[in-house]
Amino acid sequence: LYRKKIIKNKPLGYIIKLLFSLCCLFFGIYISYKSYDKSGQVFAFITMEAIVLCIYNWHPVNTVLISTVSFAVYIFLQSKIIDINYSIQVNTFTTWLFLTVASINLHHKNRCEASFDEHIEKLTKHLQQKSVTDELTSLQNMNMFYKVTTDILHNKNTDISDYRFVYLDIENFKNYNDKYGFEAGNEFLKIIANIIKSKFPEDNVAHFSDDHFVILTKNDSLQDKLEEIENKIHEIEKSVQMNLKAGIYRPLDYTVNTHLACDHARYACKSIKKHFETNMKEYDNSMRSHLRLRQYIVNNIDQAIENENIKVYYQPVVWADNKELSGAEALARWDSPEFGFLSPADFIPILEEYHLIHKLDTYMIKKVCSDLDEFRCKGFDPIPVSLNFSRLDFDLCDPVKILNEYREKFNIPKDLFHIEITESALTTSNKNIQEAINEFHSQGYSLWLDDFGSGYSGLNVLKDFNFDVLKIDMQFLSNFSNNKKSQPIISSIVELANKIGMTTLSEGVETEDACKFLKSIGCKRLQGFYFGRPMPKENFVEKFMSTSKK
Ligand code: C2E
Ligand code: MG
Ligand code: MG
Repeated sequence: LYRKKIIKNKPLGYIIKLLFSLCCLFFGIYISYKSYDKSGQVFAFITMEAIVLCIYNWHPVNTVLISTVSFAVYIFLQSKIIDINYSIQVNTFTTWLFLTVASINLHHKNRCEASFDEHIEKLTKHLQQKSVTDELTSLQNMNMFYKVTTDILHNKNTDISDYRFVYLDIENFKNYNDKYGFEAGNEFLKIIANIIKSKFPEDNVAHFSDDHFVILTKNDSLQDKLEEIENKIHEIEKSVQMNLKAGIYRPLDYTVNTHLACDHARYACKSIKKHFETNMKEYDNSMRSHLRLRQYIVNNIDQAIENENIKVYYQPVVWADNKELSGAEALARWDSPEFGFLSPADFIPILEEYHLIHKLDTYMIKKVCSDLDEFRCKGFDPIPVSLNFSRLDFDLCDPVKILNEYREKFNIPKDLFHIEITESALTTSNKNIQEAINEFHSQGYSLWLDDFGSGYSGLNVLKDFNFDVLKIDMQFLSNFSNNKKSQPIISSIVELANKIGMTTLSEGVETEDACKFLKSIGCKRLQGFYFGRPMPKENFVEKFMSTSKK
C-alpha cells in the first residue's frame, strides 16, 4: 500500500510494522525457547521469522539485518538450553541463509511487479488524460465535448431551451500566423483558449480545430461575453486585426445529435464570414433548407449523373455582324426529383467545395460529345460547343485526357470544342492549370477566357495566359442604357483584346441597343437572352439548327 502510495501516513505505518514484527519475533523465540525440550516448537520460531521477513521484504537491508539479529538471539538462547554442536550450527545457518535468500527473492519480485503496476498506472492515466484533452490548448477535445454535451442534453431533467451551441471562429487568424509564424500562432491560440474558458468558466468549452472553438452554454448574456473576448484579443494583439465570429445553434429537443448541432452552429458562423458588420448569427430555417440542399447535392451527384437528371442546356452564340449562329455554350441544369429544377448557382459552388465538380464536368464532356454525334447522325451542320471548366478540375482530374478520350470515342473534330475557363480560376501559382492550358493549345483546341472583368485577377491574366477569345462579363452590360461609363469601358476592352490578338464575345446581351453597339465597336460574337436563353437540346435543334439540315 505504501508502494502504491495508497497509505500516506508513513511514520504510523513504520511504528505498526515494527511493533507487529517485534511481537512476532518475541512470540516465535519465546515459544520455541520455552517449549524446546517438548520438541516440535522450533517451527514456531521459523514461522514467525518468515512472517517478519515477509513484512520487511520491501527492503533487503532491513530483511538481512532483522533475520541475522533474530537468528543470533535464537542461537544464543538455544545454546543456553542445549549444547550446540557443529551440525546444529550448520543447520541453523542454512535455515537463515534460505530464509534470507527467499525473502530477498520475494522482495525483488514484488518490486518488479510494483514498478510495473506503477508504470501501467502512469500510462493509463496519461492515455486517459490524452483521450479527453486537446493537446494544443489543454481544453477538452471534441470527443469529450460530444460525450459531455450528450450527457447533459439527453438528461430528461435538463431544461434544453436554456442551452446554446456556440461555434467560434477567429477571423483573420491566418494573418497572425503569417506575421509571427506557426509556433507563435499556437501560443496565441492557447491564450485565446484561456480567455474563452475564463469567460465561460462553468460551461463546456472545447477546441474544435485550428482557430475554431465550440461551447455549450446556458448563458444568455452571450453577446457581452463574446465582445469581451474580442476586446481582450484586440488588447493583446493590436497590429493584426482579428474578429470573433460566432454561430449559434439552439437544440430543439432531447434527441439532439451533438455532432450535427456543432455542424449547424459552424454553418451559421460560416454564413457571416467576411460580413464585417455581423459577428453573431443563429442557425435558422433558411440555413436548414440550404444545408438540406447541400447534403442532397453531395449525396446524390453520382445518382443524378447515372439517372441522367443532369441535363445539358445549350445557349446560342451568334456572330455580331450577321447574327447567325456561331456556336453554343453547354450549361448544366439539375432536374431533381426532390428539389425541382436547380441552376448551376445552386450546385456548382457546393460541388466545388466538396471537390466533386470533376464528376459533373466529365459527364458534361461525355454528353456534349454524344449530342454532337447525334447532331451529325441526324444530318445537321456541325456547331462548335463551349465547355465550362472549373479551376478544380485541373487538380481533380485530367480534363485534356478526358476530353480527348470522349472526342475520339465519338469521333468529333477538335475545332468543335471551345474550352472556357473563368478568369477567377487563373493564378500563375496553379501549375496544373498553366500546364493544361498549354496542353489544350498545343493540341489545337481553342481557349476562351470566361467572365473577363468579373473582378478577380485583372489584366495580368491577359499577359500570363494564352487565350484565343475573351468573353466580356455580363456585368458590363447590366444597366447598359443608363450607365454612360459602360460603353467606353467595353470599347476599351474590345480594343485591348484586338491589340493582343484575341477576339471578343460579349455575354449577357439582352437588348437591340446593346447588340448594335457591340457590333459597332468590333466585338466578334454575342451571347445573351436577346438571341436565346439556355435551352434543352431538342429546343435548340428546333430553333437554331433545323434550317441548316442537309
Ligand atoms: P457562364 O459560363 O458565364 O455562363 C453564362 C451564364 O450567364 C449562364 O448562367 C447563362 O444562363 C447566363 N446568361 C446568358 N445570357 C444571359 C443574359 O442575357 N442575361 C442574364 N442575366 N444571364 C445570361 P447559368 O447557366 O446559370 O450558369 C452560371 C455559371 O455556372 C456559368 O457561367 C458557368 O460558370 C457555370 N456553369 C454552368 N454550367 C457549368 C458546367 O457544366 N460546368 C462548370 N464547371 N461550370 C458551369
Ligand atoms: Mg461559360
Ligand atoms: Mg461567362
